[in-house]
Amino acid sequence: MATDSMRIMVASLMGRAYDNLTELVSYRSVADPMVEPPKECAKAANWVVQAFGEVGLQMATMPTSDGSTCVYGYAPGPAGSPTVLLYCHYDVQPPLGEDQWRTPVWELSERDGRWYGRGAADCKGNIVMHLTALRALRKHDGGFPCSVKLICEGSEEQGTGGLEDLVPLHADLLRADAILVADTGNFAVGVPTLTTTLRGLAAVDVTLTALGGAVHSGMFGGPVPDPLVGLIRLLDSLHDDHGNTTVDGLEAGQSWSGVDYPADRFRADTQMLEGVEVVGSGSVADMLWARPSATVLGIDVPDVIGSVAAIQPAATARVSLRLPPGTTGKRAQDALVAHLRARVPWGLRCEITRVAVGDPFIGSLGGPALDAMKVSMEEAFHHPMATEGQGGSIPLCNVFAETFPEAEIMLLGVEEPRCQIHAPNESVDPSEIEHTALAEALFLRRYAAIAGV
Ligand SMILES: [Zn+2]
Repeated sequence: MATDSMRIMVASLMGRAYDNLTELVSYRSVADPMVEPPKECAKAANWVVQAFGEVGLQMATMPTSDGSTCVYGYAPGPAGSPTVLLYCHYDVQPPLGEDQWRTPVWELSERDGRWYGRGAADCKGNIVMHLTALRALRKHDGGFPCSVKLICEGSEEQGTGGLEDLVPLHADLLRADAILVADTGNFAVGVPTLTTTLRGLAAVDVTLTALGGAVHSGMFGGPVPDPLVGLIRLLDSLHDDHGNTTVDGLEAGQSWSGVDYPADRFRADTQMLEGVEVVGSGSVADMLWARPSATVLGIDVPDVIGSVAAIQPAATARVSLRLPPGTTGKRAQDALVAHLRARVPWGLRCEITRVAVGDPFIGSLGGPALDAMKVSMEEAFHHPMATEGQGGSIPLCNVFAETFPEAEIMLLGVEEPRCQIHAPNESVDPSEIEHTALAEALFLRRYAAIAGV
């Protein structure tokens, strides 16, 4: 069968994948000149140009508004075939606690069947996954069944939006019928998973002020309203007794229709202590991916050590809301502001500053690309495909959706939970690179066959 010989082809390319990832991980491509010299990012970008050029893409680099460089590639397919855009990024997080790494940060090291090193999964593992899929198609089929475009970003981890600015400006260059954003991962090793939603975000700073300056708590405490206590009461109104987020005007009873997230596993993943409850009246997946969640990110108050007997004149907190699809960041932020203002106690002065806002994202919920991906993933992994949401936001996905409203956008990749992306000892399971590359190669074939004209 063609599938079996493609499986054998991809398996035979895993030695090269290891060598490729070894080279890529050796570049310290943190896109912050305060952390690593910019030539490290340049080396990684050049490597991508070289490697994808060798599998048959015409390559170019494009400067972006934040000073980073995007790598672009294109290989036209047969006439009438659809176009697929492959996304990944070559920049990485800093080591974050170099002394906690058990293997060298910038050296791909094999241990217990996993490959360790910064970027091994996020996102250099995904670069190598794309590369392996294209290499397999080229060697096995002699070329690609459809038009293939590549965009590899150089500042994703910085959040500075270089590619987000570039996409609308170069819409024709990047336009595609299907977009594979390879910067997420499977729910668990061996469980093929599409990430179908990303949470949005709304954050504000709220300051309550009572006095023109601090006063002695012994002399004046009692009749003076303590702004910090007022703030605590205000923050308390954001959750009910069960831990559900309760913001006026924000729906909070939705449920998740995709993969179940067992509470035991969630406890382990979050290192939740014995006796501490998983909160909320929905399932873990409901609470994580279908409902809003409010967090207090910080409060400006005097430290305990060095605190004095005084009532502070003012207190400030930063409140962050994570949002499921079904609202916009702006609408949720408006609701949060109104909710807080309506509950300020004791006539305290209230000032609210809007800090951040991002819209939730929904990927393809149905269409020829999703159909082709589902069959291809199940074939590659011999396991039913799951769908999950993700807590973090990827603003680029919203830019893709706005710029290419017709395109089917799918999020996948090699970053399963054991990878510990962004943490010390990041690693990748090579079988995830292998099976995801196989799924992608099978997808390109299948999608070209059903979506061609
Ligand atoms: Zn990433």
